[in-house]
Amino acid sequence: MSDRKSLFKNVKRLVVKLGTRVITIGDNALDAGRIERIADDVAALRQRGIEVAIVTSGAIGAGMGRLGLSARPRAIPELQAAAAVGQSLLMNAYKLAFRRHDLAVGQILLTADDLRERARYVNARNTLEALFRFNAVPVINENDSVAVDELLDIRVGDNDTLSACVTHLIRADLLVLLSDVDGLYSGDPRRDGDARLIPVVDRITPELLAFAGGSGSDVGVGGMRTKLRAAETVTAAGGMMIIADGARVNLLDLLDGQETGTVFLPRPGRLTDRKRWIAFAPARKGAVTVDDGAARAIGQEGRSLLPSGIVEVRGTFDAGEIIDVQHRKETVARGLTRYSSDEVEKIRGLKSSQITPVLGRPGGDEVIHRDDMVVL
Ligand code: GLU
Repeated sequence: MSDRKSLFKNVKRLVVKLGTRVITIGDNALDAGRIERIADDVAALRQRGIEVAIVTSGAIGAGMGRLGLSARPRAIPELQAAAAVGQSLLMNAYKLAFRRHDLAVGQILLTADDLRERARYVNARNTLEALFRFNAVPVINENDSVAVDELLDIRVGDNDTLSACVTHLIRADLLVLLSDVDGLYSGDPRRDGDARLIPVVDRITPELLAFAGGSGSDVGVGGMRTKLRAAETVTAAGGMMIIADGARVNLLDLLDGQETGTVFLPRPGRLTDRKRWIAFAPARKGAVTVDDGAARAIGQEGRSLLPSGIVEVRGTFDAGEIIDVQHRKETVARGLTRYSSDEVEKIRGLKSSQITPVLGRPGGDEVIHRDDMVVL
């Protein structure tokens, strides 16, 4: 008890993510009582001087309910239409719940592009900071009715991932994922009677990831795997995360140290804000593969990525985009490339002095400068 209490005692800002299953009942109707209880907790936390942003799912679910759809639509326009209908129902429910505490809510709908482009990222942050200054509660979701094209990769995809990005965006200390499961288990509790709740995770290992199957519900899209990925993202930047049962948890008790759910402890070392963004923005799929020497220079010696160490270009990207640096099929670093995929294709394997003559333009000796790179 006391351990958790001291862990959370300095939390000044947190993100609460509510899954579809947590805020809907029956045939995808919004559970107003549940939303009111969350609003009560958030209002009480505000009284204690703790700022809370909400990331909410449920737009598609509530829209399905309102439109009388029993199965999740397969066609993208229908899915988006359901989200469009449900999003307004969702906001209405939050508005009513917070009005009881005389608190305004501010709707923010984000797409992957808003988080990927630095200027839009900073702009979204400024808006959220202004909401906090106005004492309004940010209520965030993915912009489901426009963000669809998976080929172009403009979706964040699931709200576990989105809430981890939001935690970085507003530099929150803690992400609380409220779900219909009460934490991480050592196996699948639905099938395995010996599966035990794991109260504390200090490191996300490949074994843990192996425990986590796919999504448990056909209405939401998250599952334990996306939750563990979210935990990796949050804790790598020095934040904490907790998975708890949305039906039972009280946020005040949680911060007071109640032993419930699974807590993910922060990893040592904090990244600067810009490096956090480079490491965790929902990037497109562009990548370069490097040879052993470059992997060593980047990973162990903290050097920049030069064209000479690049053996392959994957996907297409523009100069200024975030790309992955891969070595033996593993992503070893991420950074902002100074050259487009076409240009890197022309200069890979060459000495830096050949860049300008080959490309016919000056542009710097590095493909990714070490100041623009995060080693993973
Ligand atoms: N953004 C989706 C919705 O509001 C949910 C995504 C998720 O559950 O992860 O319905």
